[in-house]
Amino acid sequence: MRVVSLGSGSSGNAVAVQSGQTVVLVDAGFPLRTLVSRLRQAGIQPEAVRAILLTHEHSDHASGAAAFASQHGIPLVSDPRTLKVVLTQAALYGNRSVTTIEQVELAVGKETQVETLQVRSFAISHDAVAPCGYLVTGGAWQVCVVTDTGEAQQPMIEAMREAHLLVVEANHDKARLLSGPYPMHLKRRILSATGHLSNEQTGEALVSALDDGPRWVWLAHLSRTNNTPDLARTQVREYLRLRGLGHARIQVAPPGVGPAWDSTALWEAE
Ligand SMILES: [Zn+2]
Ligand SMILES: [Zn+2]
Repeated sequence: MRVVSLGSGSSGNAVAVQSGQTVVLVDAGFPLRTLVSRLRQAGIQPEAVRAILLTHEHSDHASGAAAFASQHGIPLVSDPRTLKVVLTQAALYGNRSVTTIEQVELAVGKETQVETLQVRSFAISHDAVAPCGYLVTGGAWQVCVVTDTGEAQQPMIEAMREAHLLVVEANHDKARLLSGPYPMHLKRRILSATGHLSNEQTGEALVSALDDGPRWVWLAHLSRTNNTPDLARTQVREYLRLRGLGHARIQVAPPGVGPAWDSTALWEAE
């Protein structure tokens, strides 16, 4: 299995998961042209993408999904409520081929198969119509992608427990958010149970999910205003180290392409 982050954060999110000839995207929050060029940059032919799994309808996750799906004749996979909003938004923005896009309805908590990849969705807590994370299995390997959640609830922890690679939100440093420039209503939204995870909450979720087995963690969806890559990495690493989980390999997913994880070459990733 090969996994590449095509971009992470409020400027756009997409993760490519490849197993054999099958590629799926988890989210597609970039304009079509950006998405295509980032796939190529990651060494993936856009034609190899077989489906787009959508976590929720916010534009930093879904803005390029309908355009890419209609151009490549591939389905959008998500909860029916999310599909409805995403396709309505795309139609409003003038995408005339919205009606031709294949929809695969996958209610939150259910499983489906995309060619060789097994896909399980699980509930998260975010201010969207039916937000979810995904556990994707290819052969013996599993990746869990979960961003945009105010709390780490049980279904999320259970999915994280099964994954070798965890792409998980570390949105903000709480003190930095509170003393930062955001207006109070926005601070409240981010800190709420349907907002975003702080570095500390992410550390806590990882402690509940990890054991002494080898794990790779990408910290994702970092706020540019209320966090820094160094701060997120240091805080989460320290949180885990103090609880005997210092073996987890932790990287930050930047706004641009990277990092990449390849189960056939794991020694190179260290
Ligand atoms: Zn969101
Ligand atoms: Zn987001």
